[in-house]
Amino acid sequence: MRKFVYHFNEGSKEMKYLLGGKGANLAEMTNIGLPVPPGFTITTEACKDYNEHHQYLSDDIYAEMMTHLHILEEETEKKFGDTTNPLLISVRSGAPFSMPGMMDTILNLGLNDQSVLGLVKATNDARSSYDCYRRFIQMFGDVVFQIPSYRFEQALTDLKEQKNYTLDTELSVADLQDLITTYKALYVSASGRDFPQDPFQQLRLSITAVFDSWENPRAAVYRRLHHIDNQLGTAVNIQSMVFGNTGDTSGTGIAFTRNPSTGENLFFGEYLLNAQGEDVVAGIRTPEPISHLEDTMPEVYKQLLEVAALLELHYLDMQDIEFTIEKGELFVLQTRNGKRTAQAAINIAVDLVHEGKLTKEEAIMRIDTAQIDQLLHPSFDETSLHAATSLATGLPASPGAATGQIYFNAEDAVDAAERGEKVVLVRNETSPEDIEGMAKSVAILTAHGGMTSHAAVVARGMGKCCVAGCDSIAIDETKKVMQSATATLKEGDFLSLNGSTGSIYLGEIPLVETEIGGHFEELMSWVNEAKKLVVRVNADSPDDLEVGLHFGAEGVGLCRTEHMFFQEDRIPHVRQMIIAETKEERMIALAHLKEMQKADFVGIFRAANGKPVNIRLLDPPLHEFLPKTDRDIEKLAREIGKPAEEIKQRVHDLAETNPMLGHRGCRLAITFPEIYIMQAEAIIESAIHIHDEDIAVYPEIMVPLVSSREEITIIKNQLKEAIQTIFRKEQLVLPFDIGTMIEIPRACVTADEIAEEAQFFSFGTNDLTQLTFGFSRDDANKFLYAYQEQKILPTDPFQSIDQKGVGALVTTAVQRGRMTNPALKMGVCGEHGGDPASIQFFHRLGLQYVSCSPYRIPIARIAAAQASILEEREKVTV
Ligand code: ADP
Ligand code: MG
Ligand code: MG
Repeated sequence: MRKFVYHFNEGSKEMKYLLGGKGANLAEMTNIGLPVPPGFTITTEACKDYNEHHQYLSDDIYAEMMTHLHILEEETEKKFGDTTNPLLISVRSGAPFSMPGMMDTILNLGLNDQSVLGLVKATNDARSSYDCYRRFIQMFGDVVFQIPSYRFEQALTDLKEQKNYTLDTELSVADLQDLITTYKALYVSASGRDFPQDPFQQLRLSITAVFDSWENPRAAVYRRLHHIDNQLGTAVNIQSMVFGNTGDTSGTGIAFTRNPSTGENLFFGEYLLNAQGEDVVAGIRTPEPISHLEDTMPEVYKQLLEVAALLELHYLDMQDIEFTIEKGELFVLQTRNGKRTAQAAINIAVDLVHEGKLTKEEAIMRIDTAQIDQLLHPSFDETSLHAATSLATGLPASPGAATGQIYFNAEDAVDAAERGEKVVLVRNETSPEDIEGMAKSVAILTAHGGMTSHAAVVARGMGKCCVAGCDSIAIDETKKVMQSATATLKEGDFLSLNGSTGSIYLGEIPLVETEIGGHFEELMSWVNEAKKLVVRVNADSPDDLEVGLHFGAEGVGLCRTEHMFFQEDRIPHVRQMIIAETKEERMIALAHLKEMQKADFVGIFRAANGKPVNIRLLDPPLHEFLPKTDRDIEKLAREIGKPAEEIKQRVHDLAETNPMLGHRGCRLAITFPEIYIMQAEAIIESAIHIHDEDIAVYPEIMVPLVSSREEITIIKNQLKEAIQTIFRKEQLVLPFDIGTMIEIPRACVTADEIAEEAQFFSFGTNDLTQLTFGFSRDDANKFLYAYQEQKILPTDPFQSIDQKGVGALVTTAVQRGRMTNPALKMGVCGEHGGDPASIQFFHRLGLQYVSCSPYRIPIARIAAAQASILEEREKVTV
């Protein structure tokens, strides 16, 4: 027969799937000799059985539970429901993963009108006995019949007011008896039945209520958000009660073995005397800091310190401990790995290495990369955030928190920023024309677009907070208003955004800077020893590059030249180049642009200081650069001295039905070779300039959107010829590479041919994902959520690489590329280069580098180290 119930001495910490986290640790603590009140655990398997049998607790499981209850009676020398010395128990839920506040606990079960008299006799303490009874009615009513706790609390407050008491502890026995009568009446009116007097019925109802709570909507939402399997089920722990509410030598508290906000190795916690259960966190009375316990009960304090040290050494991690003191005697009721801030996580992991408790590799594996993300950006002041009104939630497109005044177009945003305002740019979606406004804003909010929409990608690159695809708000860009379900905001109103969660809030919320200090540098030096992948930065400007280098970037993986084209002083020349009707005309515009690009490249090469810099030649469709409104067209007409009509016509000619699949990338160079030639010359001439400054320089020239060998052959030969001409003229030769971005499925399957012509492959996994699925990266969020909900896709493939499909294409390209060109350099420059799961995949493929936006570099480095540590571990176990 299957075993569904385990006494605490039958379990261990390894059994958390069966016993739940709480149960497994109660068992572990029992077995290492800590003072844990005896009890037993009904397994998660019993919960599954209960659900499979349509919410019926099987007779076998019930009988097995009863056997353990009898053992518990013997252990405690008390009897369940007894009228002279009753056994009271707690019924505590506990799933394999901690789900705070999701499921409930009932204390003091077994009390009724008769057994409470028994408790009075046995304890000789009528006050605490009746206090237990009234608490029990409240918790049972709440957990089993969903009678809101506040209704009971209200009755308590009313009585205290009537009696002029300030503290619960002032209640007399008679008061408590009155309160019990009130509670029972409340129970009857809310549930339509009497409060059950039969302890066995109380027990059965409580166990099934805990099982049921696994299915409640709150718990289901929590599991979805935290990727916890719905099938796991919860265990139920039945434990004999100890009493912290029996006077001033009793109490209850919570302690952390180290400070959970800073990580400092100092015992930390709070307690309340003469209290029970959650009183400490409920905020009814202000708890005392744990250090006071040293003065009031030095013996207990000493013992608690010993317990803490022992538990930490046993679990090799900071512990969060729940304890109760009954008449000077300490009991431990729970331990678990404590939740901590990102800064504390780093400091604790490094300290544990210094203390000889962890290896460096173990410390690196302890770091949660998602949590590190918060650390690299400012966040909202906690108390102000609690008071703030949430307006809507969009996609968490670029992390960090920001607060500012809203503007609805780039021009207004720039003006406001120049007046010294903090600006939040609010758009339906952004386009490259908005770059200037985006750069001047503190945050960007869009109603449309996904995680790889223009707004999202650019904001991440700039390290700027962005919430994208917030489709529950309506934005009217002409009227300059935005509307949520509850509020209408106009230009200049304050809005706050959390780009890590996607939430937006009404008004201004103060920010606090999060500084990474402490042991961060030391941890990152271990990371560098452990990782194999090189981590580069996607940087379009020397500023971006500086940030990336500060975070440890080892080169530039992607420098997008078009971002340079959008600056105000350049766009007229870019436009002139595009609408030129003859090659001569185009060459004049290109000559201007070349000087400007050179200035950019010199800045980037200087900052890179010899590290490789991968520059992508012009990628987007040309018409993206052209003016759209009549006003802009007329302005351009004046600037370049051409009739507006002519420009209009040209804009019209260039428009494409499907620009993403249109005349862009290397296709531009096939029709207008002089554009890429100009860029290559600018790159090489800047390199020579830097070389003359005695700084090492290593450019990689990247041709985007290649789909065949023939394209790259033609373009490469043109570029090489131009470069050789410069070298001959300057009497100098510098190293450089020409390679391709691999972002079209056809390029992956013909990679053996392309590799014969390319010195490197850089996987552009954003476009590769878009083209492999046929999902537009700007619109896919309209249906991708449903794909995830219905489990068609496990995650958003634009965030974490689709290993089965897109990953298989990358694998093919790697294999074929190496076949014909063993020296081929390979890396990733798509958004996936900053995603830990994707990084693990790229590590296993044996790529040389990943590249990501500046603020993700530390995460990418840690993820790369974790990937290689994992791989080493697997080798050992195989
Ligand atoms: P949660 O999962 O919400 O932390 P717990 O099951 O840990 O819920 O119970 C909450 C609190 O109830 C505990 O921290 C402890 O103070 C109290 N408690 C639980 N079981 C007992 C018990 N057997 N004796 C005394 N107090 C208990
Ligand atoms: Mg607890
Ligand atoms: Mg691309």
